[in-house]
This record gives sequence, C-alpha cells and structure tokens, in this order.
Amino acid sequence: MATRYRVFSVRVAAVTSLTPHFVRVTLTGDALADFSSVGLDQRIKVVLPLDGVGFSELPEDEDWYAAWRALPDAERNPLRTYTVRSFRPDARELDIDFVAHGDAGPASRWVSSCRVGDELRIVGPRVPESPEDLPTGAAEFAPGHASRILLAGDETAAPAICAILEALDVSTVGHVFIEVPTDADRLPVSAPAGVEVRWIARNGATHGVRMTDQVHAWASTVVAGAASVAGSPSVGSPSVAAGPACGDGVELADVDVDEQVLWDVPATEESRPVYAWIAGEAGCVKELRRHLVRGVGIDRKQVAFMGYWRHGKAEN
Ligand SMILES: Cc1cc2nc3c(=O)[nH]c(=O)nc-3n(C[C@H](O)[C@H](O)[C@H](O)COP(=O)(O)OP(=O)(O)OC[C@H]3O[C@@H](n4cnc5c(N)ncnc54)[C@H](O)[C@@H]3O)c2cc1C
Repeated sequence: MATRYRVFSVRVAAVTSLTPHFVRVTLTGDALADFSSVGLDQRIKVVLPLDGVGFSELPEDEDWYAAWRALPDAERNPLRTYTVRSFRPDARELDIDFVAHGDAGPASRWVSSCRVGDELRIVGPRVPESPEDLPTGAAEFAPGHASRILLAGDETAAPAICAILEALDVSTVGHVFIEVPTDADRLPVSAPAGVEVRWIARNGATHGVRMTDQVHAWASTVVAGAASVAGSPSVGSPSVAAGPACGDGVELADVDVDEQVLWDVPATEESRPVYAWIAGEAGCVKELRRHLVRGVGIDRKQVAFMGYWRHGKAEN
C-alpha cells in the first residue's frame, strides 16, 4: 500500500547547539503519535513560518500538497528537506540536526532564532493503517548484501550518515567520509568495528575538495578492480515539487545540476562487492559518482547518489 503523508503540527521542545555549525532541534506534539519512522536516511519536509503570516492553513491529510500549491505566493510557506536524526515514539519527540549556514535561506534563518515553544510543521509518513503494512517512506540507504560499503557526504548528509551508522549490522565493513566546516564540527557517533569513520574538516578549503581527495584515495586502494553486479536502478526524488530527476537513461555528464535533481538510487536486494551512498552538494556528488563509475569502474547500480543542495540555489 502507498505511503500516506500528512502535515504534523509540532512545537520546539529543545534547541541544542551541538557544534559551531550544527543545531539540534527537538520537536514534539501529540500528532507525532501518527508519525511513521523508518530510521536510516529518512527525509521529511519542514514547513517554515512566513513573516507576518505564520503558517497558512493546510489540511493535515494527503491533500496538503495540492492545497499548499494553490496558496497565493505571499502565503505559501517555504518547504525544505531534512533528515530525521532520531525519533522517540514514546516521548513523541523527533530530532532534526540543522546546519546553520547563515541567513541566506528560510530554514537556516529559522534555526538561528528558534526558541522552545515555537510552532513548526513537518510533512512525513503516517503510521500504516493496517499492522500488516510495513512502515515505508523516504529512506534510500539500501545496501542489500554488499561486502563493503562507502558512505560519503558533507555536513548536510552528516545527520543521515550518523543515523545509518547507528543502524548498521555489527558485521558491516566499510569506510565513511564526512566533510564538515571545521574541526569543532565533528560529531560523536558509534559505528561497527569494521567501519572506519573519518571526519574531514574543511577549515576554509573549497567545499568538497578534501572529501573528494579522500574518496579518490579510497577508490584507488580499496576498490580498484571491483566487479560489477547486475541490478536495475530506480529513481527517487527528494522533493515532490522538484524538477526532473536524473537517472536511468540519462548520461550523468549531461545532467545539469542547476536544473535537475541529482538523485539516482539503485534497487536493493542484490549482493554486491561494494555499495556506495553519496550525498551533499550536488556538484560535488556528481563529480564523486562520475569518478567511482567512470574512473574506477564500479557498476553504476552499486552507487546511490543524492544532491542534497546546490551552491547558489534555494531548494525551491
Ligand atoms: C534528503 C535530504 C536530506 C537533508 N537533510 C539535511 C539535514 O538533516 N540537515 C541539514 O542541515 N540539511 C539537510 N539537507 C539539506 C537542506 O535541505 C538544504 O541545505 C536546504 O537548502 C537548506 O534550506 P535553507 O532554507 O537554509 O536554504 P535555501 O533557501 O534552500 O538556500 C539559500 C542559499 O543557501 C545555500 N545553502 C543551502 N544549504 C546550504 C548549506 N548547508 N551550506 C551553505 N550554503 C547552503 C543555497 O545554495 C542558496 O544559495 C537535506 C537535503 C535533502 C534533499
């Protein structure tokens, strides 16, 4: 059965400054009794308040999106995509780790000034109607029976990577590269013994360059010669309002990351020598994926890649 999404009215229960660039916002509300958590890199939409308007009225059920689109521009609340860092159903609490990147966007602006008690709305999956239906909804990490994994991302992907790491089977083997703005932005996270986690501090270097260097080194030493495994890709999109997504049949070199959503996620199930999950700034993600597939020869069906944001471009 298709996942049913709805609007959840919540309020801020806590604001915790984790590091200079990460702010954890804990949201709470009775409505969260109906929130379906799948863990891993599960994404949700955050509906942000408008100055002078607050929140425009939206139906709480599946019709929310049509109603949101029909609003006049001045009353249409901005939507942004975030990861569920953790969900505690008994306490009806949900954590989001926001990157504070200044006042350029409504989400980053909101997080720099939000206070306990502030209202917010999120859009996410409801608890399935029937107990036989598995909860589903908007998580992409699906390594199947991969022999080893690679996770690589910038600070916007750090919440997803941390949530994935905490859910991995203890026998998992792999490498993780997370680029963050400064040394002080490394976050504590636990991982299986066979997974090496490297936090890479940018410390003023160009976004993505240091992580790209490390992934290239990993590819040449760890994966060189990796065999490819069959599987059919499926294309997902982070945004119900986004433009076309790239994917099967679209040459990556042709993808214009300023116009298209960079998002391609292979099908699950197969055993694979390697499963790579890459997320973050779209230009950097595109380059990493190109290197792994064209440069190193990893089968494209072993690489999930997701453009989480784009330099110089608002989400919608
Ligand atoms: C599936 C998914 C999960 C995500 N999870 C998280 C998460 O858990 N935490 C998180 O912080 N982000 C996450 N992101 C990224 C987040 O949605 C974007 O960073 C978003 O653009 C932020 O919205 P905004 O309103 O602050 O900026 P926008 O209005 O979208 O953009 C305004 C300007 O800010 C720039 N910008 C946007 N993000 C950044 C950034 N991080 N650093 C520097 N400049 C930026 C844009 O290029 C643009 O020029 C996720 C994205 C996706 C698709």
